[in-house]
Parts: sequence; structure tokens; C-alpha cells
Amino acid sequence: MLTSAAQGVYLVAAVLFVLSLAGLSRQETARRGNLLGMVGMALALIATVVLSVDVSERSPLTTLLLIALVLIIGIAVGTWRARSVEMTQMPEMIAMLHSFVGAAAVLVGFNSYLTETHADGVHLVEVFLGVLIGAVTFTGSIVAYLKLSAKMKSAPLTLPGRNWLNLGALVASAGALGWFLASPSLVPLVLMTVVALALGWHLVAAIGGGDMPVVVSMLNSYSGWAAAAAGFMLSNDLLIVTGALVGSSGAILSYIMCRAMNRSFVSVILGGFGAEGGTVVSAGAADGVQGTHTEIEAAEVAELLKSASSVVITPGYGMAVAKAQYPVADLVARLRAAGVEVRFGVHPVAGRLPGHMNVLLAEAKVPYDIVLEMDEINDDLAATDVVLVIGANDTVNPAALEDPGSPIAGMPVLEVWKAKQVVVFKRSMATGYAGVQNPLFFRENTAMLFGDAKDQVERIVAAL
Ligand code: NDP
Repeated sequence: MLTSAAQGVYLVAAVLFVLSLAGLSRQETARRGNLLGMVGMALALIATVVLSVDVSERSPLTTLLLIALVLIIGIAVGTWRARSVEMTQMPEMIAMLHSFVGAAAVLVGFNSYLTETHADGVHLVEVFLGVLIGAVTFTGSIVAYLKLSAKMKSAPLTLPGRNWLNLGALVASAGALGWFLASPSLVPLVLMTVVALALGWHLVAAIGGGDMPVVVSMLNSYSGWAAAAAGFMLSNDLLIVTGALVGSSGAILSYIMCRAMNRSFVSVILGGFGAEGGTVVSAGAADGVQGTHTEIEAAEVAELLKSASSVVITPGYGMAVAKAQYPVADLVARLRAAGVEVRFGVHPVAGRLPGHMNVLLAEAKVPYDIVLEMDEINDDLAATDVVLVIGANDTVNPAALEDPGSPIAGMPVLEVWKAKQVVVFKRSMATGYAGVQNPLFFRENTAMLFGDAKDQVERIVAAL
């Protein structure tokens, strides 16, 4: 009785998760989406507790105490991390969380194998695949965490014959599956786990800094499939549905990001691309971009803005670091009050995680309807009086379109150089994440405003 009631609640939770994802796809409905997801998760947790008390051979009190213990530990650590994490550390935090899902799938797999006394072929395959995906996700996410937090070099590891190594690992795993099915024992399972752990490590180690955004969302997808596999092993329908939702939405996001960076998904997975963040200058670009740059002062930018009738702001990672979104919102409100048309142009991979800029601007209460995507604003840039590039670099680099030898060649960018005047806010002439120099800085219609983005925007607001 309790079990079928819990199954009913699972169904409601699954629908709430789908509605939550639908809500999260638009800024206006994101809050509601979040709320629906939270309600769904709360219902799912309650139903799972009820279910485990119902089916457990232990006394209900012991089961409840055990669940309460892990919940308290999880809630305490989760709350502490969520409060202490900086917005700029979000990608590495997400990568770390994915590694937990991978580890959980491995543990559930081994537990399921050891406790199931009459396992049939289907169950053995579930266990095997769950452990395989979980182990790859576990070590892959750890490497992504280490690379994103700069605890490990972000340059791609290029072992000789690396694609053959990966292929060899897959073939060895397939062989282990055959062995496992023919005579089930821990030996092939453990052997495959070791191979899968090495494969996950190698797969992500071979991917360079520039492709890390795609890797994070790819691992997100893997963690979903690992959860779905755990759902099959535990015969938990909600875990299967949730895992499939995460798995497929992560895959779709990876695809969208690949398109935004003009990279094919397969070439990202095969790795070996992407320079070490912030240090390399492309050979092709190095010669072409030597030149003189013009500097400008905050007061002069204020004068420029006063006489402009249209302004576009393209924010990037530097706005997040400087926490400049608040004075930027203030600046926008003042300009709009003075009758200037102000809009934002947001590149799909600006910042360090998908939707990074949209979150920051929403936090600072910038109206949604003036925040446009790259494709929506690019055609209007030629008719724009002033573009303010606030802490963006790779996402406004003309070399992506003009220099076929550039490491970011082919990546669609915000074509800010077409505007009448461009002002670039940054602290130095340093490169951005991809480590590629930016010829935009040396263009005649570009002026550099050096300094911390927040301080400089505040100075402009004061001068206005
Ligand atoms: P970039 O990383 O290209 O450039 C950021 C610029 O901000 C730097 O050149 C830096 O210059 C400047 N900056 C840093 N701190 C400050 C500050 N306090 N005040 C003013 N300026 C500052 O940023 P973009 O957003 O243009 O591009 C994002 C890059 O990150 C892309 O290469 C993308 O592929 C990659 N990426 C994106 C992810 C995503 O999911 N969105 C995830 C991981 C990577 P200076 O040091 O001179 O101040």
C-alpha cells in the first residue's frame, strides 16, 4: 500500500521535474522553474524515505535514523559549500558534484551485485554499465575539477596514440562484460572498474582549457546516465526518469555549446585541443596584432556616452570577477533615463559557465528585455554609437573570423569592432581564457580603459 502510494508521488515528482526544466529555459519563468524543482525533490525525498522504511528488513526506527544521519551530513556540507562558493568557482564546484554522482553509481553497482543472490543476465548488464559509466564520470569529473580550479595544468595531455588507448579501454571493457556474463564474479567487475577509472581520467586530461565548458556539460550528461543506471539497479523509476532528464539535457547543452564555439562534438571528446589558459599567443595572430593601442579615461567615456544615442554593453568574465554588474546596472538605468537606447549583447560562452552573464545581470535587476543574445544583436552593432566591452575578451575577438590560423578560428563572436566607437574595460593587455591575443585592442575605433571594471564603471557613473 505504502509502496504504491510512493510510486504515485514519484510520478508527480517526475512531472514537476519536467515542468521545472521547462521553466528554467527562460529568465522570466526561471524562479518558478526552480520552485517546482524544489517541491518535486522534497516530494521525491519523502516518498523514498517512506519506501525504504516499507521495504527494509530493519526496524523502521533504525532505517529512519540512518537516513536522518546521512541527510544531516549532506545538508550541512551542501549548505556550507553553497554559501561559501564564489560565482566564479561555480564550474569547478559543479564538476566536483558530478564526481559524487559517478562515485554513487559505482558504489550502488557493487552493492547491488553483492546483495542480489539470484541475479539474471539483465541485472548483470545493468550493474556492469552502471559501474562503467559511474567510474568514467568519477575520475573525469575529478580531472575537470582540478583543471578548472588551476590545481592541474589545463593544457591537453597528448599521449602517443591516445585515441587507440581509449579504444583499447572500451574493447577491454567489452571483453570484461563477456567474462562477467559467462561466469559472474568480482574479478571482471573490478578489472573493468580499474580500466574505466583510467579511461575517465585520460579522456578529460586530453581535453584542453578552451574546451572545458563543453566538458563540464558533457560530464553533467554522463552523471545523468550514471544516475539512470543506478535507477535500473535499484528498480527506482524516479531515479531512471531524473537521470534520463539530466543525461539528455546535458547532451543538448553540450551540443549547443559546441555550436557556439564552432567545434564538433566528436573532436571535443577526442581531445588534444585547447591551449593552456592565459599564456599562449597564436603564431598567426602574434604578428598581425602588434601595434599601438589608445587609452581613455573614465570621464572621457562619460562624455562619449552622453552624446551617444545607442549603446551596447558586451559583458564577459572580467565583469564577474570585478562584481561590476551592480554599477553597470546603475549606469544603464541612468543612460536610459536620459533617453539613450542601451542593450546588452551576451555571447553563449561568455564568463565561465553557461548563462553566467544572464545570472549576474538578473541579480543586479537589469530588465530582461534589453539583454539580447549574440545572434540577436550582431546585425545591429554596425549602427551602434558606443560599445562597452566590460571584461570580455575571447568572445569579442575578430581573429576568430579573420585569422584562420587562430586557435579560436571559426568561433562566432560579437562583432563589436563594427560599431562607431568601442571601449574595452580590462586591467592590462593580457589575453583571455583561450590565451589568444586580441587584435580588437589595436583597432582605430577602440580605446582601452584600464583598471578594475567595477571601479571604472563607478567613476563613469560619478562623472555622469
Ligand atoms: P575572457 O576569459 O576571454 O576574458 C576576460 C577578460 O577579463 C580578461 O582578458 C581580463 O583581462 C579581464 N578581467 C579580469 N578581471 C578583471 C577585472 N577585475 N576588471 C576588468 N577586467 C578584468 O572572457 P570572455 O567572457 O570574453 O570569454 C569566456 C572564455 O571562457 C571563452 O574562451 C570561453 O570558451 C571560456 N569558458 C567559458 C565557459 C562557459 O561555460 N561560459 C566555461 C569555461 C571557459 P585583464 O587580466 O587584462 O584584466
